Amino acid sequence: MLLEVRDLHVEFRTRDGVAKAVNGVTYGVDEGETLAVLGESGSGKSVTAQAVMGILDTPPGRITGGEVMFQGRDLLKLKEEERRRIRGAEMAMIFQDALSALNPVITVGDQLAEMFTVHRGLSRKDARAKAVELMDRVRIPAARERVRQYPHQFSGGMRQRIMIAMAIALEPALIIADEPTTALDVTVQAQVMELLAELQREYRMGLILITHDLGVVADVADRIAVMYAGRIVESAPVHDIYKAPAHPYTRGLLDSIPRLDHKGRELYAIKGLPPNLTRIPPGCPFHPRCPLARDVCTTDDPPLYEVSGTRGSACHFWRECLDG
Ligand code: SF4
Repeated sequence: MLLEVRDLHVEFRTRDGVAKAVNGVTYGVDEGETLAVLGESGSGKSVTAQAVMGILDTPPGRITGGEVMFQGRDLLKLKEEERRRIRGAEMAMIFQDALSALNPVITVGDQLAEMFTVHRGLSRKDARAKAVELMDRVRIPAARERVRQYPHQFSGGMRQRIMIAMAIALEPALIIADEPTTALDVTVQAQVMELLAELQREYRMGLILITHDLGVVADVADRIAVMYAGRIVESAPVHDIYKAPAHPYTRGLLDSIPRLDHKGRELYAIKGLPPNLTRIPPGCPFHPRCPLARDVCTTDDPPLYEVSGTRGSACHFWRECLDG
């Protein structure tokens, strides 16, 4: 396995108390595989990714347990200097907001070229040529001219392509894309997702795709891990999830995707809000919002039950959920 996160715990100190943002998350991704991590905001999906990348805000964020095994090493045991070397060269991240992730006063060409001068020791001229090559690769038209432009001179979709170019520049083994298309309109979203999937296949990278939108992952993901209140509540191959979810929360997410054949019908929304992470409800954390909840759900925290060899669900009544 390229990356294996094992029983990861992350806490944040807040004015309200300790927020348990990640509570025993275990997931993995292999080379050439795409894992989609899905959940509403506050589910812990981005915090887990930040812990993997080593860019968690510390303090107030604190990793209180677990392992992050990457190519056989536990990243949590490495010195910051070593982690910095791994970031960019061996694992890279694509953020939702390219405008704030890119430096506004440096041309995109120089930002791309810097990856090669700093990490690969290339001359300025060779690094600039590589920058143009990369911009071509992510299909930015007139790359030779546009390499001299600043981030604000590009559209949202083009800026996201530049972020992708920066992420793949050093051909890392793993890319984490955190809501990479959320800020874009639907047509551009599809183009950017397609490009990301194509590059991932070409370079055989592991890809972790973080999203709140189950609709965008159907064509690109191999597996899905659904997160709620800082834990994985369902983990399964993508086709199994679309065929029949084994957790009521996954079912709720699926039912909230707009569908053409449901035109005119009111769109389903999961009732209520995700829990305050300083006061996670006892028992199953989803019980205040769950249409299948029974008494046992308010007291007994469900483990991740084995549904099949490749599938798990943290619901006492996963069989009922599977049956629809
Ligand atoms: Fe709903 Fe109970 Fe299953 Fe939790 S354990 S998801 S509350 S049915």
